[in-house]
Amino acid sequence: MKRVFRIDALRCAKCGSERRWIAAITSVEAVAKILDHLELPSALIQPSPPRAPPQAEFEFEGC
Ligand SMILES: [Zn+2]
Repeated sequence: MKRVFRIDALRCAKCGSERRWIAAITSVEAVAKILDHLELPSALIQPSPPRAPPQAEFEFEGC
């Protein structure tokens, strides 16, 4: 997160003190339960299907 988002997850944003890594939650069900308990959105977002880029207009010469 620090390299990509420039967010230091192990540093408190309020007081600047160092945080400790205690666990990584990888279960989708466990994450959903935690988010539900915190009354935060937990539904998975379905991405839109990919589509081709818009077709560029072609110039036609009259025949
Ligand atoms: Zn703090």
